[in-house]
Formats: sequence, C-alpha cells, structure tokens
Amino acid sequence: MYADRIKHLPPYLFAAIDKAKQEAKDRGVDVIDLSVGDPDLPTPAHIIEALGRAARDPSNHQYPSYEGKLAFRKAMADWYQRTFGVNLDPEKEVLTLIGSKEGIAHAPLAFINPGDTALVPDPAYPVYRTATAFAGGEPVVMPLLRENRFLPDLEGIDPAVAKRAKLIFLNYPNNPIGASADRQFFKELIDFARDYKIVVLHDNPYSEIYYDGHRSMSILELEGARDVAVEFHSLSKTYNMTGWRIGSVVGNAEVVAGIGKIKSNIDSGTFGAVQDAGIAALQSPAEFVEEIRKVYRHRIEILYRALKDLGLELEKPRATLYLWAWAGGSSIEYAGRLLERTGIVATPGVGFGKYGEGYIRFSITQPTERIEEAVERLENMR
Ligand SMILES: *Cc1c(COP(=O)(O)O)cnc(C)c1O
Repeated sequence: MYADRIKHLPPYLFAAIDKAKQEAKDRGVDVIDLSVGDPDLPTPAHIIEALGRAARDPSNHQYPSYEGKLAFRKAMADWYQRTFGVNLDPEKEVLTLIGSKEGIAHAPLAFINPGDTALVPDPAYPVYRTATAFAGGEPVVMPLLRENRFLPDLEGIDPAVAKRAKLIFLNYPNNPIGASADRQFFKELIDFARDYKIVVLHDNPYSEIYYDGHRSMSILELEGARDVAVEFHSLSKTYNMTGWRIGSVVGNAEVVAGIGKIKSNIDSGTFGAVQDAGIAALQSPAEFVEEIRKVYRHRIEILYRALKDLGLELEKPRATLYLWAWAGGSSIEYAGRLLERTGIVATPGVGFGKYGEGYIRFSITQPTERIEEAVERLENMR
C-alpha cells in the first residue's frame, strides 16, 4: 500500500525505550522523562493575551496569506536587527512558517531533483535526512565527532561529493549535542558553500537558549552569508511556544522564494492570530528570555555535575536544552539500564544517527524539582 518513501524510513529506534518506559509506568515506577526537548515552562502571559485578542478579530478568520503577515515578518526582521545586528528585507527575505520543522521539511522539495544530494550532519535532528529523501534526494552524511569539536570537517569532504551537493544542513547551537559553532567555522562554511554552489540551510532554534554570556550567533551576521544561506528560526524554544507552531526562514531572497513556492502549493499559511501573538512574543522585553535562561542554567549545572560524578564523559553545554554524555557501548542498552535502575528516561544517541552511538542525550525540559529528583537518583546509583 505504501510508497517507497515511507516504506524506507529509517527504523524507529526509540520503540524499545518507549516500550520499556510504558512498562515501567505500568509497574508503578515514578518515571522522570528526560528524553524530549519540549519546554515545560509556560508561554508568557502577555503572548497568550495577545492570542485571545487576535482570535476575536474577524480579519484573522479567513485564509491567511501564504507568506505570512507583513507585520509578523517586520517584527521578525526587527528582532534579527536587535538580536544579531542583521538587516533583513521583511518582504523578500522573511517567510512565516508553521513551526520551523515545516519549513525544513519542505525546503528540499524546492532544490532537490531525484538523485541530487544534500550534506547532512550525523548525529542530527532526523528531519534533514528524511526531508531530503522525501524529495527524492540522497543524504550524504557528515560525521560530527568530538575530536572536531562536533563540527563537520568541511576540508575532509571529497570535492567530487561537494560538487554534486545542492544543500547543506547545519544546526548550531546543536541538538542533540549541545555544541556551538564559532565565527571562524561559519566563515569557512560560507566559503565552502560559495566555492561549490551549495545552499546552506542553517537551523537555529536555540540561539537564545545560551548560558554564562556565551551569546549565540546568526550565520547571517557574517559577510557573504546572504549570498548562500538561509536560517530557520522558531519561537518554540525561545518563548516556550512549541505547541503554537510558528517560526520563519530568513536570508537569501531566492532561497526564501523557492521555499515559498512549495508552501503556497501545500499549505495556506499560519493562523493570523498566532502570527499576532508571535509579534507580541518577538517584542517581549529581554527579561523574559533572561528569566528562562536562569531556570535552565541551574538545571544544566546540577544535572551536569551528577552525570560527571557518575563517570560519564561530557562537556557542559554553552547553549541548548541538552547534555550529551559519552557512556560507550550500546546507547540503547545503556538507556535501558538507566531506566531500570533510576526510572529516568534519556535518549539513546544512536537514534540521531550512527555517529551518535555510545552517547546518551539528557534534556532539561522537566520542572526543576523533577530534575533535582533525577539528580538524587543518579547519586544513589553510584
Ligand atoms: C525544536 C527544534 C526545531 C524546531 O521546532 P519547531 O517547533 O518546528 O519550530 C528545529 N530543529 C531542531 C534541531 C529542534 O530541536
């Protein structure tokens, strides 16, 4: 019945863990689920109030424009200006998305012909790979290794492979690794993309979730970035709005237009009231995100120490919601033992690609007292 594109989806590696989690719950175990990256903190009240007002506005009850309200795109451009010092033309360089996942998943349809290739990191958010395959393309893996600071080795990519690639997907600050990229790397990336005529799709939902003053960059801060790159941005992680489904893609106007062409033939845009609430979010005083960062920073700090004390190898992330710990061996088995002994669910790294094997990802999006409880259980496990 099914088309090859879904028959050939990679196996669902979390099935075993999901099953073990359910069985533990059925046995009455108080399970602490640190496997998903979905902020537990509430959406700030002023954003919810803006939605309420906007929902009553009849102009929001008809089809929205597929590219998004100009007012939302302007608010996004202003936010980029304030946050990164990047100037964007809201009409040509900003497109509203139904969450950034939507744009990422549709982007390959605009650039990939059957048999074309896209460079995708491994381990990574699985959408880059599946979206490439859905468009008939072939993902070519770039391993993210600890000895390279979890950055792809661009010089190590075979020139013949680079010449054939149409797209390169990247994501810093990174999920699942928690690693960040510096200016030098982005500069090399832009040169690489220009030399080989590759479109850069930079996925940047964690730019505001950083700690200890390690501000994260937009790739568009770099000279020449706009010639080769777009960046996906999302309100999901910055404003605790994962359920609201709103984000955007910004940067190179031709690339933005290409994604827009696909979208205009598939969806009819984002609910106008959600865009109005999105404007309220983007105009939030800086303190809101500062408060969120403070909460996360404490959680990172205590969980990091507990995992270190347990003998796992890891670095304290400068950004994101994740701790990426080396346990060695089978990550699925490790996650199973962890659940068995502590009731804590973490994600086996191999679920993000073969180069994630041996690692375990811990997310900090559970209430602080639950993270504290997890820390206590980890201490007792020693
Ligand atoms: C959370 C996340 C996204 C985006 O999510 P949306 O809610 O669809 O905006 C994109 N990429 C990565 C790597 C993420 O972790």
